[in-house]
Amino acid sequence: MLTRNDIVEKALALDFGDVGFTTAEPFEAQLEYLRNHQQEYGWTEKVGLGLMAGTDPRAVMPAAKSIIVLLESYFREAFPSTLEGHFGRCYLDDDRVTKDALALRIKAFRSFLREHGIDSKVPFNLPHRAAALRAGMGTLGKNALLYSRRAALKSSWVLPLTVVVDREWAPDSPSGGLGCPDWCRNVCVAACPTKAIKGNGAIDPRKCISFMTYFGREITPRELREPMGLYVYGCDRCQDVCPRNLSWLSRERAMNARAEAKSKDFDLRALLHMDGAFFKSRVWPHMFYMSPNNLWKWKMNVARAMGNSLDDSYVPDLIRACEENGDDRLRGMIAWALGRIGGSHAKGALERLLAGSSGVVREEIEAALGRA
Ligand code: SF4
Ligand code: SF4
Repeated sequence: MLTRNDIVEKALALDFGDVGFTTAEPFEAQLEYLRNHQQEYGWTEKVGLGLMAGTDPRAVMPAAKSIIVLLESYFREAFPSTLEGHFGRCYLDDDRVTKDALALRIKAFRSFLREHGIDSKVPFNLPHRAAALRAGMGTLGKNALLYSRRAALKSSWVLPLTVVVDREWAPDSPSGGLGCPDWCRNVCVAACPTKAIKGNGAIDPRKCISFMTYFGREITPRELREPMGLYVYGCDRCQDVCPRNLSWLSRERAMNARAEAKSKDFDLRALLHMDGAFFKSRVWPHMFYMSPNNLWKWKMNVARAMGNSLDDSYVPDLIRACEENGDDRLRGMIAWALGRIGGSHAKGALERLLAGSSGVVREEIEAALGRA
């Protein structure tokens, strides 16, 4: 019969940063929170995340008796700065599609359990952070992230993974509450460019850049375009500024070879001009929240980032993309980006594009030319 200690030893041997145990009882407080914040979280049901169903582990495995929580420390290796400037780090070595890195370690852990007669499931929709807190594995930050009690130098650069099992072990004592030092002065709240952080350990996901980059459906509202800055997919700002993360951020790191190898595919110009085949083979396997039907959204995010870069070497690319793409949300953002970069080349292009434009594209061009 496997003991808790056997499991901890196996998980650490597989290079997980920490391990905790909790019961398979439903996460009632989480369900209540979701019910009371439907305006902020209702969209999660529409896009199929199933967060409400995930609050009951027995909906995933009727025989569930415990949850083993594994903490994966990420950002252990360095990423090219060209990637870090535009993408959240947790996506820069994400193998949820390719299944050739972390997935193999999870598989090995589950095989170990199976060899000892234990059935397991690794659901995507369980409240991972709540499970980790219930398993005593850390505290919350005001930015709503889990800060580990020991992995990744007690920082927030951790991903909790839940393994629901049909075996009972004594649970760990829950932890929780905010673990932020009084002297911090809410740096994350002040630094969040879109005011998504409420300051009490919760965020409004609809205002978070991460949400807006992949789940937004319309052209990004004008007042959010500058605050969203250079991010194309995800955002790390509230982690980068946090003093609880300083030790982990300042570690020396070797370059992540996988991220380095794909970095040219994630160059802004490559993304702005990509076709469906390029997207499916080079981009989607690594960042998959947007489907091939939403290439316009990828490109719109890229156009906004190019505009905020203020780099006029992007002007010819933006003009070309406006001529080659038909989606008005993208073309409208390109007009905004040209206006933001400014200069005679961009202005001349906007004047030319105005002649054949209508609707939202025309509005954006007129605004970019200062005529709205
Ligand atoms: S990830 Fe970015 S946008 Fe989202 S809460 Fe943190 S700082 Fe704000
Ligand atoms: S920046 Fe300050 S308030 Fe925000 S999570 Fe870090 S320590 Fe807490």
